[in-house]
Amino acid sequence: MPPRWDLLIRGGTLIDPAQGLSARRDVALQGGRVAAVAETLASADAGEVVDAAGALVTPGLIDLHAHVYDGALPIGMHADRAALVNGVTTVVDAGSAGWMTFAGLRDYVIPTYRTRVYAFLHISATGLATVRVVPELGDIRFAQVEEAVRVIGENRDLILGVKVRIAHGGTGKGDQANAREALRRARQAADQARVGLMVHVSDTPIPLPEIFEHLRPGDIATHIFNGNAERILGPDGRVRPEVRAAAERGVVLDVGHASVHCDVKVAERALAEGLRPTTLSTDLHKPPPGRIVYHLRGLMSKFLALGLGLEEVVASVTSRPAAALGKSAELGSLAPGMAGDAVVLDLEEGQFAYIDGAGNTVRASRRFRARHVIRDGRRVATPAPEADHV
Ligand SMILES: [Zn+2]
Repeated sequence: MPPRWDLLIRGGTLIDPAQGLSARRDVALQGGRVAAVAETLASADAGEVVDAAGALVTPGLIDLHAHVYDGALPIGMHADRAALVNGVTTVVDAGSAGWMTFAGLRDYVIPTYRTRVYAFLHISATGLATVRVVPELGDIRFAQVEEAVRVIGENRDLILGVKVRIAHGGTGKGDQANAREALRRARQAADQARVGLMVHVSDTPIPLPEIFEHLRPGDIATHIFNGNAERILGPDGRVRPEVRAAAERGVVLDVGHASVHCDVKVAERALAEGLRPTTLSTDLHKPPPGRIVYHLRGLMSKFLALGLGLEEVVASVTSRPAAALGKSAELGSLAPGMAGDAVVLDLEEGQFAYIDGAGNTVRASRRFRARHVIRDGRRVATPAPEADHV
């Protein structure tokens, strides 16, 4: 008789916010899906047993903001080597590709990955291919609504939204007219294609409240804790009412940490006022020399140290990004029938430090390490790396 299950994750504490579960559970996977969850399941019924004793078991992590167009972008990372081995089973490529360059991501990059990849299509025709050389929307002719809508329509299995960077480096230094027109066209493309909009809101040349006016429930504001001018804190040092109102109407507040898009003083102030991030994400990319880009588990450790609860940290990288992607029926939970993506995380004790682009350091006494990663019901054989960052 063949075994009843391909794989059994045994002996761990399952943290599954979508099910309201934080308890000792075994999880059985079969045919790439979750087959059973119970306090104890029999090892004899499984082809492979993954040891989770003393560890946490969570749904596979989802990184809502990453750049995995490896080979085509100067900043592109390899999803399997950078994300998957760190427990991230799903990444969203946030605007690496525009309508002109999406086919390369779809045909020559994503098929080589074991990591699950979705994309937000940049409203700039060439995406971020020119990043660090010229602003991708410095010339507004690159923002072509009809072409973007067409490519989204042809790739609905992969493209879940539109991306735009409203930033001096994206729409042209000090060019407010260009920034406004880029935002207008991105909004128009998202509406015509009936998908969400993700807006980069760090170092923006136009007032932040004006950007938030354009964001609807389910849209994503990324880099929310940046410390640049037009940050989420107003001139009085308190969270702007427009940001709070956006959070209340269901706009996703995404961290998009990167190296320069998070100032922990901003995060601390927001948390003190009760404004929580909806999702933690990395903005995974190849950093220039001297900068650090953390893996998602590093950011989980950092925000745990900043006072988010364990269940909240896990929700912000599983059930919440799944909901933001409209994928709650498949991803972000280990309920029976869901995708067989999981991670076994050790919460190590020690002394750890997490820096930000503003020069602040967060000290942590615990950090997450990926002991085992399971994708599509099968264990990823690569051992978990030591470093928290790229
Ligand atoms: Zn990014």
